[in-house]
Amino acid sequence: MDKFNDTLDKYANLCVKVGINIQKGQPLVVNAPVEGADFVRLVAKHAYAAGAKEVHVNWNDGDLTKMKYENAPMEVFENFPKWYADGLEEYAEDGAGFLSISAQDPQLLKDADPKKIAANNKASSMALKEFRRYTMNDLNAWCIMSIPTKDWAKRVFPDVSEDEAMKKLWDAIFKATRMYENNPVKAWKDHLTNLEEKVNYLNEKNFKKLYYKSSNGTDLEIELPEGHIWAGGGGKNEKDVYFVANMPTEEVFTMPHKTGVNGVVYSTKPLNYGGNLIDNFKLTFKDGKVVDFEAKKGYEVLKDLLALDEGAKRLGEVALVPYDSPISKANIVFYNTLFDENASCHFALGKAYPTNIKGGADMNEEQLDKAGVNDSLTHVDFMVGSKDLNIIGKTKDGKKVQIFKDGNWAF
Ligand code: ZN
Ligand code: ZN
Repeated sequence: MDKFNDTLDKYANLCVKVGINIQKGQPLVVNAPVEGADFVRLVAKHAYAAGAKEVHVNWNDGDLTKMKYENAPMEVFENFPKWYADGLEEYAEDGAGFLSISAQDPQLLKDADPKKIAANNKASSMALKEFRRYTMNDLNAWCIMSIPTKDWAKRVFPDVSEDEAMKKLWDAIFKATRMYENNPVKAWKDHLTNLEEKVNYLNEKNFKKLYYKSSNGTDLEIELPEGHIWAGGGGKNEKDVYFVANMPTEEVFTMPHKTGVNGVVYSTKPLNYGGNLIDNFKLTFKDGKVVDFEAKKGYEVLKDLLALDEGAKRLGEVALVPYDSPISKANIVFYNTLFDENASCHFALGKAYPTNIKGGADMNEEQLDKAGVNDSLTHVDFMVGSKDLNIIGKTKDGKKVQIFKDGNWAF
């Protein structure tokens, strides 16, 4: 086996063993681009070798998606197939692990009818609401990771040939996922331990408020709810099996209080939302809600996103990522949130992870709301980190502690 294929095989193994941490008798559901069929076969090989009961693949294809947007009538986008959502729920009930390969041309839908895109985003969010309960509450193991596809690689590296772009994107992904370390599985264990130290420190401090300031104009105050929990690295599912939901992952995150965000925040990286780019945007918050916004690119897309429902105008995630993280240092804009969010401090508009508050997974909608947990059909990360971002935490007894200094951890 040559070096590339050897690394590829190890990468498939890492996703199965560390990402999902597949258990004997467990089904594995894979969401993958047709272009990645060879890689998916490697995933299946390792999954079956580790005792998976079944590997089921839901394929997607950019060209087919584009054709659908060009030809199918509006009603198709307004009605997400129930059988598809039911199928995912059935697998979830059976304890399946869910591996999603995120690899999309960031400009895939740039010429598609925005109304169809908005309708599709809404219909799929609604239909998959029950299924998302399993992953967003960590009941089942899930993992989002990436492989390059040709169109995506060409967007990231437009100045080189397609072959060269593919090579470069593989290289960037392997670097970001620590695949060049001698023992990637061990390198991941060490990395997860480091993240856990940050998580423990922040949970101990139990900050009441965070203050963000950056020279680009960001000046934001964020209240953290009573009982909030910082998390990062991996987590345990309902069966007490440790899994890693994002590969790569560099973030340590919690939830804000849904009514406790005030001030202005500027985006620092382009955001790929459902095949469309939103870039250079600014959000103004009052009592947790976006009351004003601007965008140099993708204004209409941002407008639709914020109008999706009441919770889409509020924050559901506060995530800290050092400016010197390996992904950030690579200085590549991936136009893929999985990578770009792990290169930068970020927030998410929309639903908060109930696991980020004490007892959240057992609370009903009313209790979550009372606790300040934001709810929405959507959850979209956007990047706000910069090299001079400072974050101060204020404890319950009014003590101020520097958390981030000039874009990096201050402790
Ligand atoms: Zn995040
Ligand atoms: Zn997020």
